[in-house]
Amino acid sequence: MRRKVIAGNWKMNMTPSQAKALIEETKPLVAGKDNCDIIFCVPFVDIYAAKEAAKGSNIKIGAENVHFAQKGAYTGEISAEMLKECGVEYVIVGHSERRQYFGETDETVNLRTKAALEAGMTVLLCLGEVKDERLNGITDEVVSMQTKLALKDITAEQLKNVIIAYEPVWAIGTGLTATPEQADETCGVIRNTIKSLYGEKAAEEIIIQYGGSMNASNAKELLAKENVDGGLIGGASLKAKDFSIIVDAAQ
Ligand code: PEP
Repeated sequence: MRRKVIAGNWKMNMTPSQAKALIEETKPLVAGKDNCDIIFCVPFVDIYAAKEAAKGSNIKIGAENVHFAQKGAYTGEISAEMLKECGVEYVIVGHSERRQYFGETDETVNLRTKAALEAGMTVLLCLGEVKDERLNGITDEVVSMQTKLALKDITAEQLKNVIIAYEPVWAIGTGLTATPEQADETCGVIRNTIKSLYGEKAAEEIIIQYGGSMNASNAKELLAKENVDGGLIGGASLKAKDFSIIVDAAQ
């Protein structure tokens, strides 16, 4: 039985004081809901405030990206070591908005994944097809290839600290959600890819989340599917009540 992981991706929302307020509001709503891991991935500048606010609760704090170099002339970037020293345990890598707007490629996603794993963080590795790829019937090939490229040279031991977030790009922030059947099927394709790369046990153990307009109304159905081990949640993670309903659905 895989443990469910419910993670919020705040994107470019929330100042440090707003972050504190949202976590204070969410804490009592998710207190004692210990049958799943609860994570907020927050903007870099919110990390300290979020960590402080989450202290003593079951909410863990992650970041939204990490650079692949250890240090150097990469203006505006943040290294894995910097995040680690701030107490960050999780980091999103390869979000479709990074791929779409900031030129992330499968290669840089792989490098960032490696850097985060080497620093001892758990990676929420995002991948998923765009609308045309689904319409053209090549979703399975696309997610399988993205999985292979993102995990290039990552060992079976390191894979234990990877969570995959299957996020169909056409469903992110659009209000369109994959049906539970589509989510289950494509998460299953990713699981089979892991099996071909790392064997049956790794495939059984890896956590594969669904992300893409998951909300308080549709979470229960999505999370009930065999291959869906949690959710990566954008918009609905900015509302304490909605987020807590999703956490309830994962119990
Ligand atoms: C996301 O940002 O990863 C996401 C799934 O966003 P939303 O839930 O708003 O679609």
